[in-house]
Amino acid sequence: MLDPDVASESKLVSLDAKRPSGASLPPLFGLDAEALSTRMAASGEPAWRGKQLAEALYRQSLREISEITTLPKDLRQRLVAEGWQVGRPQIAQAFKSEDGTERYLVQAGAETVETVWMPEGDDGESGDGTEAGAEELRSVSPQQKSHAPSNPQLLADSVQSSAPERASRELLSHSTWRRATLCVSSQVGCAVNCQFCLTAKLGLQRNLTAGEIAGQVVSVFARQGVEVGRDRVNLVFMGMGEPFLNYDNFMAGVRLLVKEVGLSPQRMTVSTSGIVPGIERFAQERADVRPKLAISLNAPNDAIRAEIMPINRKWNIEAVVDAVRQVTLRPRERVTFEYVLLAGVTDQPAHAREVARLVRRTGLPAKVNLIAWNPGPGIPYSMPAPAAVEAFRVTLAGEGIPTYLRKPRGRDIYAACGQLKRTVEG
Ligand code: SAH
Ligand code: SF4
Repeated sequence: MLDPDVASESKLVSLDAKRPSGASLPPLFGLDAEALSTRMAASGEPAWRGKQLAEALYRQSLREISEITTLPKDLRQRLVAEGWQVGRPQIAQAFKSEDGTERYLVQAGAETVETVWMPEGDDGESGDGTEAGAEELRSVSPQQKSHAPSNPQLLADSVQSSAPERASRELLSHSTWRRATLCVSSQVGCAVNCQFCLTAKLGLQRNLTAGEIAGQVVSVFARQGVEVGRDRVNLVFMGMGEPFLNYDNFMAGVRLLVKEVGLSPQRMTVSTSGIVPGIERFAQERADVRPKLAISLNAPNDAIRAEIMPINRKWNIEAVVDAVRQVTLRPRERVTFEYVLLAGVTDQPAHAREVARLVRRTGLPAKVNLIAWNPGPGIPYSMPAPAAVEAFRVTLAGEGIPTYLRKPRGRDIYAACGQLKRTVEG
């Protein structure tokens, strides 16, 4: 049954004036340069037109075939007449947090998924090898800003804008951040049913396509004026969904981002709840398209983990760690263990000591990212007290485990970890 939040959101669909209706051909966005070349060749055009198309879609972020001026006008007209369309997922609605975080509802077919832009990041990537040379390893002191939820500010420009409008906004927005993290969704909803996660409440609605995964990035980059190669933007596949239960599309999305958009896989982190067959496939990926890996550990032992993450009954901690060992890490790369602190359930000092032993036993170059649980309606847990978070961090770090605390970002607009449920009200 649809949740009221989701039902009320259906009116958002009408905001997306650009969404093609009844177009017979699949969108071009989502095809790589090679597949685009094949399409062009089938259309009687030279194959190198595919490269031009890829450049227009993924580097220039053009949204309409008519805008692709590197193609002759008559070819553009013919492609449109034949029913081709770019079909990149568009930002249907945006919410801005008091801390600068922006949460977007991105149109994917008739549904929306959530993508979160965090200027200055949330410290989630600290110490995992990404920032080597740029930043020293450091332990982050807790800045447990606990925002009382307030009304989200609906941005006036949430509906699509023209290219000149985009350009002026890009200039404006870019001056406000030096680096950023973008949190990307891989599915509409999620089937994994972790007891503390709001996304789980949606159940799995559907898998996103490769184009819908990469499209979230290209659309937000265009909105924020991100220049690939110049700007330090990290991607985390930690939005809605379990990426390794949509493995093929997820990795195809990553390949588009690497090969066509030009992003480094070392600036990307995929988080999994511990889907062992997915981790084993991931271990076989070539290093030049493999993001870094984060495992949602979330508990000090199997008993507690099985209680809060039923998936642990299928693949327990040992099975997950064995699979992770198959991944050949790059120099300086670390595996991240994410750990959500639930008051009274996972946040005790004894738990911290157990986590330290567990992480040491893996023998992996690893770090732990602590996340203070973010509340959501109808979820029967409590936020950990700031003192408990700090005590946990100090204990774990004191045991020699590199430990970082993820800053809660955008709680006031339901943009923080585990709060992504397409909420349209405050
Ligand atoms: N499905 C994947 C990726 C998305 S969840 C996974 O579970 O790893 C991203 C992270 O948010 C996970 O580490 C998850 O444990 C965490 N999370 C989920 N709900 C949360 C909540 N309410 N508060 C804080 N973190 C949460
Ligand atoms: Fe799915 Fe991740 Fe939420 Fe678990 S924590 S329900 S795997 S999105």
